[in-house]
Amino acid sequence: MSVAVHILGTAQDGGFPHAGCGCASCERARREPALARRVSCIGIIGASGRCLMVDATPDFGAQQAALAAAAGRTPPHVDALILTHAHIGHYLGLALLGREAMSARAVPVHCTPSMRRFLEQNRPWAHLVERDEIDLHTLRPGEALEFDGARIHAFLTPHRSEDTDTIGLEIEGPTRRLVYISDADVFPPALAERVLEADIALIDGTFYARDELPHREILAVRHPFVNESVERFAGARGDVAFIHLNHSNALLSEHAPALPKGFRVAAEGESFRL
Ligand SMILES: [Zn+2]
Ligand SMILES: [Zn+2]
Ligand SMILES: [Zn+2]
Repeated sequence: MSVAVHILGTAQDGGFPHAGCGCASCERARREPALARRVSCIGIIGASGRCLMVDATPDFGAQQAALAAAAGRTPPHVDALILTHAHIGHYLGLALLGREAMSARAVPVHCTPSMRRFLEQNRPWAHLVERDEIDLHTLRPGEALEFDGARIHAFLTPHRSEDTDTIGLEIEGPTRRLVYISDADVFPPALAERVLEADIALIDGTFYARDELPHREILAVRHPFVNESVERFAGARGDVAFIHLNHSNALLSEHAPALPKGFRVAAEGESFRL
């Protein structure tokens, strides 16, 4: 059996509809729940059916169930997690592994040294460590993790680091490589090279264009712009799918602009065999 990557969520940290937002896109997604999107997350099902989830989002319960369903296992549980960074959309779901919910037993959680320190030194996360509900493993940028037939390489991405650094992942199966970069302020040349060379690239598509939020806000939370990324990655050897979309992104609006051939918005439920 090969390795498969499943898309479990495609929205920016605040979800879609976005908490507290009354914009036309969010109101439309409230009226039509089929348009709602869970927070960005992927799951890996290994060669023997073991499940690893990348990030524990506020939608962790539903995403864990979706991954388990794809792997045909009940009750839903994951065998391991990798956390990319400490922004709310990427780790809050860990709380569900604790005593108030799953009372998990030593679920392996792989993360960078700064993310590890953050979890060990701050409650409620430290409770999970002390009670052995999660078992932290250091995954340094530049290192790779072997998981059930997949080789998962971690690399640093430039992203505002209030509490921790941020990693992206390259997931290598027996025949293909997928790159996952949910959060990057920009794509420096080394990162762009990974996107161009991947068989499938799932990349930060938070904002569609430079003018969709007031200038000050766009500067405070930097992300690449979809309308610039499609030009930059026009020569990519594989498909490029945008993930981590903010509610303000034109691609989520009623009159979404079309994307050039080879580019699309990532869809929850799609999977890639590697
Ligand atoms: Zn994020
Ligand atoms: Zn909105
Ligand atoms: Zn972030």
